[in-house]
Amino acid sequence: MRTECLICREPLNGTTYLCGRDIGIAKGNLAFIAATAVDLEVTVQRLDRRGDRGPAHHAGGGDAVPLPYNAGAAEVRTEIHAAMVGLATWVANTRRDNGGHVLLARVAVKAGPDAEAAAAARYLAANLRWIAGHPNAGDVYTAITATARKLAHTCGHRPAMTDLGLCGTPGCDGQLRAPVGAREVRCRGCGAPWSVAAIRDMLLDWAADRLFTAAELAPILSRVHRRRIPKGTIGSWATRGHLEQRGRLPNGTALYRLADARDVAATMYPEKELAA
Ligand SMILES: [Zn+2]
Ligand SMILES: [Zn+2]
Repeated sequence: MRTECLICREPLNGTTYLCGRDIGIAKGNLAFIAATAVDLEVTVQRLDRRGDRGPAHHAGGGDAVPLPYNAGAAEVRTEIHAAMVGLATWVANTRRDNGGHVLLARVAVKAGPDAEAAAAARYLAANLRWIAGHPNAGDVYTAITATARKLAHTCGHRPAMTDLGLCGTPGCDGQLRAPVGAREVRCRGCGAPWSVAAIRDMLLDWAADRLFTAAELAPILSRVHRRRIPKGTIGSWATRGHLEQRGRLPNGTALYRLADARDVAATMYPEKELAA
């Protein structure tokens, strides 16, 4: 066993490769990854602008619609997924922890890659003491730190920014981004001022007939109603017959129409919906 921390060189008692402070830092980074991996889905899809599910709203855009997809964030999502699931799989293999394998396999099938990355991060956090006692602890620590940095950078956290998609001025391809909570945003391309609430309404209207999974609807409805609406809640609306299932993904995940889900949410939380 080492006599000093692999990260900060602090003297250790010889039963671990990482000091308590660095274990705490890794734990914080894993908690951040678990909580933020799902935001990444929203960043990748810019809330609801998907080229493959309907036309863009952009006035005068015609066929020359810019890609409604954040390719950089999609790439980072793939990297983060690979890093978290790779590390978690390594821990489960090395520990011969079949429970870990089952957890990862189940989450992947049920909820998709972002939920799987988040579950892997939580699994790693639960096994941090064991990781700290393994000779590879330094490499795992470094990989966790790099993943958290990449995620924070991509999701634009601190200050949190909302991606509002393209400017609505004909011919302008400026991207509108506003700090969370801002009422107005000015296009950097053409200088036009936009009301954040109006743009959000426009995005929601534009996506009204599109189909989403419960996991995709959860952050959208949570924003509209300013409260946490978990995907399980949305699934329970369907189970109880309030929300009609409109389709399925190839893997069997149910799809719902955004407008239907908004109607149900408005009934469930009448006082919470934003005025605009
Ligand atoms: Zn240390
Ligand atoms: Zn503009």
